[in-house]
Amino acid sequence: MAPAPPVIRVRDLSKHYPGHVAVQNVSFELALGETLVLLGPSGCGKTTLLKMLNRLIEPTSGTVEINGVVVGRQQPEVLRRGIGYVIQQVGLLPHYTVAENVGVVPRLLGHAPTAIAERTNALLTRLHLPPKRFAHQYPHQLSGGQQQRVGLARALAADPPIMLLDEPFGALDPVTRAGIRRKFRELEELRTKTMVLVTHDVTEAFELADRIALLNGGQIQQLGTPHELLFRPANDFVRDFFAAERLALQLHTLRLRELLPFLPPALYRLH
Ligand code: ADP
Ligand code: MG
Repeated sequence: MAPAPPVIRVRDLSKHYPGHVAVQNVSFELALGETLVLLGPSGCGKTTLLKMLNRLIEPTSGTVEINGVVVGRQQPEVLRRGIGYVIQQVGLLPHYTVAENVGVVPRLLGHAPTAIAERTNALLTRLHLPPKRFAHQYPHQLSGGQQQRVGLARALAADPPIMLLDEPFGALDPVTRAGIRRKFRELEELRTKTMVLVTHDVTEAFELADRIALLNGGQIQQLGTPHELLFRPANDFVRDFFAAERLALQLHTLRLRELLPFLPPALYRLH
């Protein structure tokens, strides 16, 4: 049997606008369960690249394959039902309750109402939004962080194997943001998903990525593990991008084993 194709395979993908190249010759592959973070300054092409994966934007050239099938040959609506999508603006339907918002895709898919209710309650509970209190509230009654979690629950409702997230914590204040990020990392639900997450936040990228694609001017400057980007930068752009937070990131990235030689012996003899 041939080995399974990568879950996402992007080949030579470009998006040109009149007088402007938003994404240029980007290629990468993602294995099952991997999280790729698209990182880079504002305007570098992250959102454009992400939206080409679920056909919200059509590429000028190049291909995207999901599980070996070229997405250009699939119905966009069908394609998107298998791909959860979370954006900074959340985009909850204001006249729908929390529960109705979460159930939108399963209803489209014709799932049974009892199954939808069960799934919705389970997800809200897992995302620390007790259904008794929140299921029947409306989006305007929730804080930004709570709305963001409803958005995440909605994207997860039909259990899509792939998740695309565009600055999912971008609208939150720094404290809320760090807390939600921690909950996000602990979510059992997300462990098996293949994910592409956009951020301009270096710390966020290091906390969440298996691999990072650092973009500038629509091109990948380097694609690798956080450790590789930090310790073996491919060019000056990569080096400079991490310069301000280098020390904090190095401490975050180094495993305890690598740090032990630098710690006073008394400290680790205790353990
Ligand atoms: P990012 O998400 O990294 O901030 P975007 O992917 O949104 O960047 O945009 C990449 C570049 O493409 C930007 O310079 C932006 O101005 C340009 N761009 C995005 N959408 C359009 C469009 N519809 N028409 C023309 N230029 C666009
Ligand atoms: Mg963007």
